Amino acid sequence: MSQLRKDPIVGRWTIIATERARRPAAFVDPQAIITDKKSCTYCQEPLKIIDEHEGVKVIHSSNPLLDQVHPFERKAHGIYDVCYSYGHHEVIVEVADHIAGMADLSIGQIKAVFEAYAARMEMHRKDHAIEYILAYKNYGVAAGSRNIGHSRSQIMAVPVVPMRVKDKISGAKKYFDYHDRCLFCDLVSQELENKQRIVAQNDHFIAITPFASRFPFETWILPKKHHSDFVTGIEGSATDLAVIMKDLLLRFKIGLNDPAYNYMIQNAPVKHPILYKENYHWHIEVMPRLTRVAGFERGTGFYICPIPPEMAAEFLREVEIHA
Ligand SMILES: [Zn+2]
Ligand SMILES: [Zn+2]
Repeated sequence: MSQLRKDPIVGRWTIIATERARRPAAFVDPQAIITDKKSCTYCQEPLKIIDEHEGVKVIHSSNPLLDQVHPFERKAHGIYDVCYSYGHHEVIVEVADHIAGMADLSIGQIKAVFEAYAARMEMHRKDHAIEYILAYKNYGVAAGSRNIGHSRSQIMAVPVVPMRVKDKISGAKKYFDYHDRCLFCDLVSQELENKQRIVAQNDHFIAITPFASRFPFETWILPKKHHSDFVTGIEGSATDLAVIMKDLLLRFKIGLNDPAYNYMIQNAPVKHPILYKENYHWHIEVMPRLTRVAGFERGTGFYICPIPPEMAAEFLREVEIHA
């Protein structure tokens, strides 16, 4: 029987299609061909570096979706709201060498990438117009990246709190108000006890396939200890975060034939951090792009996940990542 599962944070339903479940190996999806060093933007041009952190370079996006030309102010246009797309849009060039995937970076390099995110977030928080900062990665054409084989990620600082973030926060707050405990802390301890959906763990972090996964092999990395803020939360644990991210990405690369994927750091909003200190728990969502979102998902907001997360976790756990 297929199962309907409800995400405990935002209340979104997923259909876990157990009957039509595809075997894990049926998901392998080879990467589109990626370009070589000669035609790489990040190898050829002298980069206009705005910040640097242990070999990680921060540059302005060449196609910025946001800029600081006009201040952010809402204007009514009949029943609609329009405003200038104020904000900051940066590219984090993760490594000087022409290496395509983060899975192939060293632990030290991946740690420096997370520390660079934290430093940029700290910087953008000083801009009073900014309400939310998202650090994210698009790897591979299917994940929305251009086909340049040079490991990089992006930061967007925006003057509003995005709806998905609001949903997570309100779900976490409702749970906290009722139970007086953090929903994510409870989720981590239940998953540690249950074990079925654990992909990897170390002293500071756990990687799990969420109970109501939207996508095959969707994986969340959560700090085991409560912390609402990524920037201060990774102090003292950035190496462990790099270790678990590399471990997970190698499992994707070897087990699923180097699929396209996205990851997003889900942090609390910038303003009034005290409001989120107890009830929000930062984490990273990592999503391989192996299926396409179709009419049913778009029409209902339900997702259909063609592999139970327990099976996906077991498959990823068993991938041999050490030569
Ligand atoms: Zn390059
Ligand atoms: Zn917590």
